[in-house]
Amino acid sequence: MSFSSLGLSEPLLKAVSEQGYEKPSPIQEKAIPAVIEGRDVMAAAQTGTGKTAGFTLPLLDILAKGKPARANQARALILTPTRELAAQILESVETYGKYTKVKSTVVYGGVKINPQMMRLRQGVDILVATPGRLLDLYNQKAIRFNELEVLVLDEADRMLDMGFIRDIKKIIAALPRNRQNLLFSATFSKEIRELAKGLVNDPIEISVSPRNTTAEKVTQWITAVDKKRKPALLTYLIKENNWRQVLVFTKTKHGANKLTRHLEAEGLKAAAIHGNKSQGARTKALASFKDGSVQVLVATDIAARGIDIDLLPQVVNYELPNVPEDYVHRIGRTGRAGSSGQAVSLVCADEHKLLCDIERVIQQLIERKPIDKFIPVNELPPSRALKVAKNKKPKKPKQDKVEHKDGQRSAENSRGHQPVRRR
Ligand code: AMP
Repeated sequence: MSFSSLGLSEPLLKAVSEQGYEKPSPIQEKAIPAVIEGRDVMAAAQTGTGKTAGFTLPLLDILAKGKPARANQARALILTPTRELAAQILESVETYGKYTKVKSTVVYGGVKINPQMMRLRQGVDILVATPGRLLDLYNQKAIRFNELEVLVLDEADRMLDMGFIRDIKKIIAALPRNRQNLLFSATFSKEIRELAKGLVNDPIEISVSPRNTTAEKVTQWITAVDKKRKPALLTYLIKENNWRQVLVFTKTKHGANKLTRHLEAEGLKAAAIHGNKSQGARTKALASFKDGSVQVLVATDIAARGIDIDLLPQVVNYELPNVPEDYVHRIGRTGRAGSSGQAVSLVCADEHKLLCDIERVIQQLIERKPIDKFIPVNELPPSRALKVAKNKKPKKPKQDKVEHKDGQRSAENSRGHQPVRRR
């Protein structure tokens, strides 16, 4: 399948081809035509599946055709949990929309509200926002939704985890009832299904497995080490292997700062990114890491969630995460867009249980490679054998499935881009 067969207009196809994308990813194949057709979509997809282009491309297609937004109005709203994600989505919108006249902007907390109010004054076609700041702007009458055509909830599960449910409900209550809804979430928990019930109308359901949780492109290994020798081992590995761009995960903000100082003292260019850093510092650290002037980026899980860096070759779990699923998210940072990557975990004896939990979740024993100079005094016990009992297996998302719930599209939706809601 090619991008041109998905119904996208020429200016979008040109921008996509400039990005070097050869063919649509599975989620794009399914989401793009459905959104253009005006259908509601519920998609189970993580970062790394190409989901952002999956909703921004058809949105741009729809919005390029209609009338531009009036003052203080937005025609499409993309809600996303973090500032980083919001900034990245805007970047995608601008990249794919560069040959269209679609106007877009982003609003999020932690920075001054006034410049955002000014930008909204002329109206925007696509507004990317985090929920808290958007609600502030709405309450101050800087944004209105009378002309809203499409709502996108991106990473809905994260937004609920981060306690945004009330804000989201307030925002939804302020939107016109006649609109198109796109819901993207890595997982579909009871809470998400509950939220979806009052939101989407006769949706197309799409479920794709992330490109790299199967670890086909990511080589994973662990090395056992005493806790206090982890800083020295990390430095050794970076220097010995000449790793040029390394994303390192720590469990705490304090740990991230301390490790960054250690790496810098060892002559490595390093920066930390976590929730206590200002937005400016986070953006700067990420930009320096992307352009290669910072070699090692040390991050906590929350700060790193959703960071999208193409072709990231090397991830190090300096400490294992408490939640095994975070391991999958962490190693999903590597091997993007068809490249290969390597994920290494430095594991001390205290972390044995965490390791076993991870191996149970990924249903795979991770290869161990001893490093001669760092053989631990406190031995890491062997991994537990994996139980393959049927009911113990973690639930896997179904592969590339599309369901047309009613098997056919409605007459209203096949006419154009204005979905008609039947409540
Ligand atoms: P996402 O899942 O939206 O976070 O996208 C993950 C990465 O895949 C981004 O770096 C995109 O630039 C890249 N990407 C998106 N669509 C494609 C495609 N069709 N072919 C190759 N890379 C893509």
